[in-house]
Amino acid sequence: MPILARMLPAPLTMEVRRGAIAQLGSLLADSRVASSGQVAVAVGPNQGDRIAAIIAPSLGDAKVFRVAAGTVDAAIALGGDLRKGAFEAVIGIGGGKTIDTTKYAASLAGIPMVAVATNLSHDGICSPVASLVHDGGKPSFGVPMPLAIMVDLDFVHDAPPPLVRAGVGDVLANLSAIEDWQLSRVERGEPIDGVAISMARTAAEAVLGRSDSVESDAFLTVLAEALILSGMSMVIAGSSRPASGGDHEIMHAVDQLFPRTANHGELAGIGTAFCFFLREDAHRLGQVTGCLRQHGLPVTPGEVGLSNEQFTEAVMLAPNTRPGRYTILEHLRLTEDEVRAKVEDYVRAVGR
Ligand SMILES: [Zn+2]
Repeated sequence: MPILARMLPAPLTMEVRRGAIAQLGSLLADSRVASSGQVAVAVGPNQGDRIAAIIAPSLGDAKVFRVAAGTVDAAIALGGDLRKGAFEAVIGIGGGKTIDTTKYAASLAGIPMVAVATNLSHDGICSPVASLVHDGGKPSFGVPMPLAIMVDLDFVHDAPPPLVRAGVGDVLANLSAIEDWQLSRVERGEPIDGVAISMARTAAEAVLGRSDSVESDAFLTVLAEALILSGMSMVIAGSSRPASGGDHEIMHAVDQLFPRTANHGELAGIGTAFCFFLREDAHRLGQVTGCLRQHGLPVTPGEVGLSNEQFTEAVMLAPNTRPGRYTILEHLRLTEDEVRAKVEDYVRAVGR
């Protein structure tokens, strides 16, 4: 009989809780990620000492690498170190930059990677993508999904609040990305993947429905799970399609034109709201802006220090950041004057 089901890739284990990092040793043994050989640990520059002290009792013989994370060069250097040491696995512990650097380094060294997240700024925790700075840009590289995922809520509580909240903006972007994907199916005949869509949408709806925020363990757990599900939806889709549409094109364009304006999730949140405004979807627009406001995230360009003119420039550039991805921006093909008018209407409609 043929196999009438699809096998879905998933991490071996997924743990979201306080004190997770201290338990790393037993997780690795239990999940058979690393049973006999030596493991490597990659930590970022900021929290390295604290993390090294916490893992020492359970992972005393691990080799700890400090990485000045976030660039292709750092990942290549770490990849070289990992290859030389013949490690069984590498554990990336830290924020998005450290995890993305370790993901790419692990793929270069050909060994599995465990992701241990200390903040919830974006859906890269479990995604098959690493975004790293290279030649003045920040391209995305396809990499294997991490083998196991942990989120340590003690560290998440201690992370800068804007970084934790930002994950909300990134997960809401799924709603906009799914609309873009479905639009592309209608307009272009692009195949869509209903399983990937259901995971990406469920993740966003779970966060949308919460009345609490980043102070609460219950909220952080849902947010962490939502970000991990988003990452898995991308693995299933084989691309970032279910979690990245016009919303992320706008984010990439702002990053390119006005670097360091705001972080990934904050800009993705604004991009999401603006795309729903372009779709004239008042219901979703209200839900998204309400949710962003509830968690203290920016909604208008002015709230991240961009003028309407600068945001207009970014929206005009946005389609070029992701050639071939059909979204509401490519669909409407607005002129610069039309975009400027839309941006002004948007700010009037949702500004405080
Ligand atoms: Zn994102």
